[in-house]
Amino acid sequence: MKLKIGKIIAAFLVLLSAFPLFSESASFQSENYTINVKYNNEVSPGHAVFVRMNVIPAKNVKKQANGLKAELQLLNLGKKLETSPFYQINPKKNRNSWEMLSGVPVTIWNDTEQPYQVKVVFSLNGEKPQEFILPTVFKPYTFEKEDIPLNQANTDIRTDTSAERMAQIEKLNNIFFSTSYQAVYQTKPFTSPTDSTRYTARCGDRRTFIYANGKKSTTLHFGNDYGIPTGSDVKSCAEGKVVLAENRITTGWSIVIEHLPGLYSVYYHLSELGVNEGDMVKQGQLIGKSGATGLATGPHLHWEMRLNGSAILPEFFLRDFTFETE
Ligand SMILES: [Zn+2]
Repeated sequence: MKLKIGKIIAAFLVLLSAFPLFSESASFQSENYTINVKYNNEVSPGHAVFVRMNVIPAKNVKKQANGLKAELQLLNLGKKLETSPFYQINPKKNRNSWEMLSGVPVTIWNDTEQPYQVKVVFSLNGEKPQEFILPTVFKPYTFEKEDIPLNQANTDIRTDTSAERMAQIEKLNNIFFSTSYQAVYQTKPFTSPTDSTRYTARCGDRRTFIYANGKKSTTLHFGNDYGIPTGSDVKSCAEGKVVLAENRITTGWSIVIEHLPGLYSVYYHLSELGVNEGDMVKQGQLIGKSGATGLATGPHLHWEMRLNGSAILPEFFLRDFTFETE
């Protein structure tokens, strides 16, 4: 019997370490409402801060359609770095309250400690806006540095200033910075698009490209690279809508999928596409095969996540970042 309990405890500990809980809870109350909040209180470069709010009006306060306006803010010494409106989730389940979600990116560009603040500003039924601060801790993150020599063909891609390449870059940025508040497709943890954990590069890597003529250019890497053979399965990390599926000069055959307002997953250098623009996909659905198209020094899958335009470490989304099951 003792052994059994020991085994159960061991299994529980393994489960805990595989899915570390990372949410904080907070509660705010006035005579008109109660707000229960869950959020990840770590502010770390290349991560996001997600906040889930349950707003329960007092008995005498009527829930009006679109009666709650709320915004999540990331500040640095009072200056707004990022703002993101809250959107409603599970509207059918909550007839008398609002369940809201929002996330802001914490840039991978700055890895030094910053006096970050996370604030929620909200207004109920057109009343004067109220606000509260969510306490956070800064958790440093050290990104890798790497030098990447490019042959003539890859140098030509990287230094291509053709109108075609510039138009492709503009089109993709327009997608990354667009937000559709109806696009709530999945609020449970995402999964990796590949079974491989053979990383050949990570999101946030500080890269120096060395061109064929010896000149150098520095940049950041915006996704995780997995060294897998051409033709390996690539699966959608979550349910969503395909918003781009085409061949691009820099990234080869490419797919972009929208999962939540302002949140996109990105798959590059594919050898084959299995979906078309406009398709709805399920989590884990086969969307294409990996390859080495575009600027690649060998076969690999590049998996990237973008929130409100900023690249976020993809592994952030493997956790319960919407606090659905906690
Ligand atoms: Zn890559």
